[in-house]
Amino acid sequence: MSEQTPIAIAIDGPAAAGKSTVAKEVAKALGFTYIDTGAMYRAVTYAVIAAKKDPQKEEDAVALLPNIQIDLKPDHSIWLNGEDVSKVIRTPLVSSQVSYIAAMKPVRLAMIEQQRALATRSNVVMDGRDIGSYVLPHAQVKIFQIASVECRAKRRYLEDQEKNIPATYEEVLEEVKKRDYIDSHRDFDPLMAAPDSISLDTSNMTVKEVVNAILDIVKEKTGLEGERC
Ligand code: C5P
Repeated sequence: MSEQTPIAIAIDGPAAAGKSTVAKEVAKALGFTYIDTGAMYRAVTYAVIAAKKDPQKEEDAVALLPNIQIDLKPDHSIWLNGEDVSKVIRTPLVSSQVSYIAAMKPVRLAMIEQQRALATRSNVVMDGRDIGSYVLPHAQVKIFQIASVECRAKRRYLEDQEKNIPATYEEVLEEVKKRDYIDSHRDFDPLMAAPDSISLDTSNMTVKEVVNAILDIVKEKTGLEGERC
């Protein structure tokens, strides 16, 4: 890569808004690295649960942090201390506990340090809750992706069904609502739209339409043209 400052595209928004599907496609279209920051908090949560510690106790999670090594591979698999945890971090147990772990300031600071380091190494599309507002405030493009909570829960429920993850629509709806509440009410670095972000309501849009809308914004802001799907 050249000496130029890498380009960062931040895609934030509430749970199950379809950010990761869209972010992966946008990264592919532009040849950028995709960084799933939610997977990092999920991996920490899984590590705490696997160590038989309490994911709602800050001292338990913080004590484990030095022994947690997370790798995001180019094929989008997520590795924790040499173990492929891509599937297990999406289970209902991890989903139900991750927002407690993500509300812990020392955990966030450790993850944010890694996220910022990754963004210095290559052009990135990073999705999360706080990328435009806190992690990469100088990101050239900031998207805040929203959709109604029912629409998000329905999409997540259908995805879970495909992956054989056992959960009813009502359970998924409650979990999404709970995560949104905790994520947007935590003291440090809550979920929020950066003031300079562009809001996209994707409730009635297909993935293709959302990807193309973001590529239009990228073109306008950076001049870069992504390969359209
Ligand atoms: O994106 P995903 O839904 O997999 O994220 C899981 C959880 O991780 C979120 O509900 C939130 O609690 C936390 N998270 C966060 N900040 C980020 C990304 C995710 O707090 N940047």
